[in-house]
Amino acid sequence: MIFSFSTLTSCNTGGATEQTNENAPWIIDRFDDIKVLRYEVPKFETLPLQQKILIYYLSEAALCGRDILFDQNFKYNLAIRRTLEQIYTSYEGDKTAADFVAMEKYLKKIWFANGIHHHYSNDKFRAEFSREWFEQTLDKYVQELPIEKALLCDIIFNPDLYASRLNQTDGVDMVTESACNYYEGVTMKEVEDFYAAMVDPKDPHPISYGLNSKLMKDADGKIVEKVWHLGGMYSDAIQQIVFWLEKARSVAEEPQKSIIDALINYYRTGDLREFDRYNVLWVSDNSSNVDFVNGFIENYGDPMGFKSSWESTVNFVDSAACHRTKIISENAQWFEDNSPINPSFRKKEVKGVSAKVITVAMLGGDCFPATPIGINLPNADWIRKEYGSKSVTIDNITYAYDKAAQGNGFNEEFMLREEDRTRIKEYGKLGDDLHTDLHECLGHGSGQLAPGVTGGELKSYSSTLEEARADLFALYYLGDEKLVELGLIPSLDVAKSQYATYIMNGMMTQLSRIEPGKNVEESHMRNRKLIAEWCYEQGKDAKVIEWVVENGKRYIVVNDFDALRELFGKLLYEVQRIKSEGDYEAGRKLVEDYAVKVDPELHKEVLDRYAQLGIEPYSGFVNPSYELVEKEGEIVDVKINYNYNFVEQMLQYSKEYSFLPTLN
Ligand code: ZN
Repeated sequence: MIFSFSTLTSCNTGGATEQTNENAPWIIDRFDDIKVLRYEVPKFETLPLQQKILIYYLSEAALCGRDILFDQNFKYNLAIRRTLEQIYTSYEGDKTAADFVAMEKYLKKIWFANGIHHHYSNDKFRAEFSREWFEQTLDKYVQELPIEKALLCDIIFNPDLYASRLNQTDGVDMVTESACNYYEGVTMKEVEDFYAAMVDPKDPHPISYGLNSKLMKDADGKIVEKVWHLGGMYSDAIQQIVFWLEKARSVAEEPQKSIIDALINYYRTGDLREFDRYNVLWVSDNSSNVDFVNGFIENYGDPMGFKSSWESTVNFVDSAACHRTKIISENAQWFEDNSPINPSFRKKEVKGVSAKVITVAMLGGDCFPATPIGINLPNADWIRKEYGSKSVTIDNITYAYDKAAQGNGFNEEFMLREEDRTRIKEYGKLGDDLHTDLHECLGHGSGQLAPGVTGGELKSYSSTLEEARADLFALYYLGDEKLVELGLIPSLDVAKSQYATYIMNGMMTQLSRIEPGKNVEESHMRNRKLIAEWCYEQGKDAKVIEWVVENGKRYIVVNDFDALRELFGKLLYEVQRIKSEGDYEAGRKLVEDYAVKVDPELHKEVLDRYAQLGIEPYSGFVNPSYELVEKEGEIVDVKINYNYNFVEQMLQYSKEYSFLPTLN
């Protein structure tokens, strides 16, 4: 998955996407370090009726697994959520009193994180209401507690109990020290041994053992798997998922019918071979306009990496945006032949990759409310090798991020010149999208190694240099008249907006994501710093890029866009040479000289200016809802409705899509 940092880096707006309700606010709730946005589903209305109905059924299936994720994250999550919801909806006291307000915030955080631990840091939330108030309120409003009162309160108020959902500290027993509900009564060593005994190292198509089960001990102390399938653990929710998948199957066309069949069969049996068969069918389907993910998919939540959390997305192809990547792909050879690198390092025959751009219609489980902006599946290595993978970017989610960032004061604070801000407003999103397209579809795939070079020579510097190479390819071509000629951009102002943003981010604003006293570690961030700092230094005498101080604040401005483009080309020449020749020493020097060290004074200034803007670092979404329109027993249309209230949607989901017992 690819998660967006857009609110913290470039905050661009604009773009050509047609939207349905531009005037409604994009940010609909904010609490703690979270803001909740809405997203729109442009062009849903124009889909054929059969696809709309398919989306409706798949969306219902996407919502039915919500409780599974709550329970996977922590075994008492449902007990706490349901208890708090009961208080919240029946409370008759003063709703402006500090304790109640604090409990409301705590409940919102639980809804957002699908549990009592932070969705990103994994640390348990701290309750800001008093235990005394809570115990009294419990007595008054909750007749039957799902677990002992003392335990319930200890979980909420004792910071040391179940402190982390996912503890991967070196040297600790990660299984017993993590609060997630994938293991019970077993140690890390027992988990390792259990699965080591199952794996067949000679199997060319290895099964993802452990992916869909909880590992625990039975009454006799024997280690057993409790498998998540129809009739097994989480059966009540899975039954609902299967019900809606069968409905979806009834309106789907081939090859999707067979794909849904395989998935249903997997949910019925829990057989992981069947899950692989489903994935092979799914990844091979490139023709269906509507597509979906539904199942136990990503293993980030398991300290051992065996167990997968439940998630779902429903989406359809954004044909206008795919047109863009298609044009780029079709002209891949022209870009390669004109690349500003040593001709001997150009690929003689280049094949562009056509990444799909999609519009998401529904998000569920681990994709909600915090949402990825891109998905690359399936995860099984052998399937990726033999059948490939599907890579998609979710356009309506990035669009909403950009819209929500509009007016947050970011560009006004960090971008000095009015003309740059205006261009970013107009072309920022298009520039971002094209940068991503060129980077992904062509950049990584371009160039070739010299004879005798294997590609492993650059060692720990390889990923930074590889990202730099793809970024430079994108930046260089963004400023090429060829893009205007191909109809991809209206003018080179798109490049200017991207160049100004890129340099500002690389030299300055991305520092907001680094803790004081630390250097740049992450390879994408290193790559941006490398490119920006190198171009600054190379163009210093001619003032291509310049530091300007106004009212005691520092700004970075690009004075000469043409000269900057030439510098991008020059650096691409060198980075390609380093890769093609495997020149470790030159690569190491580039990275160490330009990409790593942070100026502590500048860093402090950026952090201070960010803090004053009050931009929350994490965001997520509410979903739209869909409604069948029937006439004389026939479905004649599906209507989409937008929700503008996070609390309402959470309470509705807890009421209508809650199928599991409190303890599983
Ligand atoms: Zn990349």
